[in-house]
Amino acid sequence: MAANSTEDKQNSGKSKFSDPFVSPDFYNIDDLLTGEQKLVRSSVRDFVKKEITPYIEEWSQKARFPYEIVKKFGETGAFGPTIPAEYGGGGLDYISYGLIMQEIERGDSGMRSTASVQGSLVMYPIFKFGSEEQRRKYLPKLAAGEWLGCFGLTEPDHGSNPGGMLTHFKDMGDHYLLNGSKMWISNAPKADLAVVWAKNEEGRIHGLIVERGMEGFSTPETHNKWSLRASTTGELVFDNVKVPKENLLPGKSGLGAPLMCLDSARYGISWGALGAAMDCYDSARRYSLERIQFDKPIASFQLVQKKLAEMLTEITKAQLICWRLGKLMDEGKATTQQISLAKRNNVAMALDVAREARQIHGAMGITGDYPVMRHMMNLESVVTYEGTHDIHLLILGNEITGIPAFK
Ligand SMILES: Cc1cc2nc3c(=O)[nH]c(=O)nc-3n(C[C@H](O)[C@H](O)[C@H](O)COP(=O)(O)OP(=O)(O)OC[C@H]3O[C@@H](n4cnc5c(N)ncnc54)[C@H](O)[C@@H]3O)c2cc1C
Repeated sequence: MAANSTEDKQNSGKSKFSDPFVSPDFYNIDDLLTGEQKLVRSSVRDFVKKEITPYIEEWSQKARFPYEIVKKFGETGAFGPTIPAEYGGGGLDYISYGLIMQEIERGDSGMRSTASVQGSLVMYPIFKFGSEEQRRKYLPKLAAGEWLGCFGLTEPDHGSNPGGMLTHFKDMGDHYLLNGSKMWISNAPKADLAVVWAKNEEGRIHGLIVERGMEGFSTPETHNKWSLRASTTGELVFDNVKVPKENLLPGKSGLGAPLMCLDSARYGISWGALGAAMDCYDSARRYSLERIQFDKPIASFQLVQKKLAEMLTEITKAQLICWRLGKLMDEGKATTQQISLAKRNNVAMALDVAREARQIHGAMGITGDYPVMRHMMNLESVVTYEGTHDIHLLILGNEITGIPAFK
């Protein structure tokens, strides 16, 4: 099948797992990858086929966060791939990081959320803005999956406008006193530590590392989600929490600090969404060849072929965006606006692909026998978190016109 990667052509039929995924590569984008990048992708793909896809439907149906995956992610190098090896990270380039996110989200967006938060939103700020002591204390444990972290920016009344946050801390001489709350925080209920963004008495935003067990700190779980059901989400509540002074991230303050973390995470989401889209496309392709209606495979009908052709076209465009953006990331040249374009385009593309794939599966598409409905529901969160679809459009609008239209 010309649309598939060489690696999958070699592996197809040999897999000992029930997951028959074959990845599309219509423009031979594999030719642009290094041997190391392909090796990273193939090892994470095998990991996902062994540790995630056989169980993900059950976890999602039961809304169970498989805590045991945290250690396994650590062992497979999914946490902090771009963080230097001396701190326990993978020391890899950004395309390898993207490919890891692609493969994990091919399994499930909730699983990718766990890895993204740990790598881009917890390890990254500690690495970029933390003291050497903080790096040595936290990064190796986070990289190994011995500790799970979360990132607290969003508040009940401040989502798209995090600069308006109310969570604040006071300098009490020998410690800081933290008060306020955060909402919609991935990993929170199980997290050992939280990177929390809060204002000081002058209204300046700083990052603080808050550890589980600190008095007055709790993480109630958010229930009844129809999306990212295998990911655990919760609140962070700070009721006069005494935070040691050495837990403040000294390297950067202001809203720019959390936004830098979001750039890194959004980059990973661009690749991750691609993974979800590839899975939906591949499932639809296979189903359409097997399902017979009017004495023919439904793949023989033009309307089904149109859907598949358009899916492959959009996936191919998104693959090229990801690869080029990865190169810019590695050169340190990628801008926030370029990352916004990729996140916005690729997540919306994946959502469209998931919806079309769901239609191709007919009634079967609503069941957990196929991954499409789960991906579709997951992507409804991905299109909202880390900057909504419309907020990214405004970021691009501002870039094009020089006129901010946020207010
Ligand atoms: C499952 C899940 C996990 C999450 N994990 C985390 C996490 O780990 N850490 C964290 O800090 N946050 C997390 N979030 C929060 C997420 O980042 C926010 O939901 C997101 O930023 C949007 O904020 P909001 O939900 O308050 O929506 P709002 O900001 O209230 O927006 C609602 C709608 O209004 C639109 N809107 C808002 N302002 C404008 C404007 N100026 N112009 C035009 N339209 C506008 C938005 O586009 C959106 O459509 C998570 C969310 C979900 C759903």
